[in-house]
Amino acid sequence: MKKMGLLGGMSWESSLEYYRIINKEVKSKLGGSHSANCLMYSFDFQEIEDLQHKGEWERLKKLMVDEAMKLKKAGAEFIVICTNTMHLMAPDIEENTGLKVIHIADATGDEIIKRDVNKVLLLGTKFTMEGTFYRERLEKKGIEVLIPGESDRQVIHDIIYNELILGKFNPESRRKYVDIINKAADIGVTGVVLGCTEIPLLIKDKDVDIEVFDTTEIHAKAAVEYATED
Ligand code: GLU
Repeated sequence: MKKMGLLGGMSWESSLEYYRIINKEVKSKLGGSHSANCLMYSFDFQEIEDLQHKGEWERLKKLMVDEAMKLKKAGAEFIVICTNTMHLMAPDIEENTGLKVIHIADATGDEIIKRDVNKVLLLGTKFTMEGTFYRERLEKKGIEVLIPGESDRQVIHDIIYNELILGKFNPESRRKYVDIINKAADIGVTGVVLGCTEIPLLIKDKDVDIEVFDTTEIHAKAAVEYATED
C-alpha cells in the first residue's frame, strides 16, 4: 500500500471525515486489521481563511507547496488535498514535489459519468464556484456545469465559512441549500456536486431528489483506490 500525504485542517471538521472514510475503505478492501498508511499535515484554518479572503493566493500557494514538500520528505508517495478550494494549487504542488495529486474534481467527474449524469449544479465556496480551475476539469469530461446566481452563491459561501467550518449545522441553512438545489432541478439539472468538503455534513442524499455527489467521500475513496492498486 502506498503511503498517502494528506493536506488537512481545511477544515478539521472535514479532515475527520477523510480520516474515517479512508480507514474504513482500506479495511473493506484489504480486510483484517488493515488501516491506511498515511500522514496528515493539518493547517490552522484561520490563517488559510484570512489569506483567501485577502486574495493572497501566492502566499497560500507557497504554504501548500512547503507543507506538501515536508510530507514528501516524511515518506508520502502521493498527495491528497482535503478541500476542493485549495485544489487551485494542485498543479503547483505536483510540479514542485514531483508527486501525483489525486484531483478531487477529476475523481468527482469520473463518478458523475459513472452514474450517467451530464448536467450538474456545482456548490462550494465562491472561489470554487466562480473560478475555472474546478469546473473546467468537469467540462473536459463532457459534463455541463451550472452554478447558482450571485445572491445564492453568497448564501452558500457564507454558510460554509460562518457555520459549517465551525461545526454548526442549522436546519434553516439546510433548507436554504435545498431550495437552491431544487431551483436548479426545476431547470433540468440532474445532479448536485457538493463541492466543498463540509457540505456533505449538512446535505445528505435523502434531502433532495437529484443525484448527490459527495466530494469528500468520492475523493477519499479515489485516494484509497490509488494507494492500494498494484
Ligand atoms: N473545505 C472547503 C472546500 O472543500 C472550504 C475550505 C477551504 O476554503 O479550503 O472547499
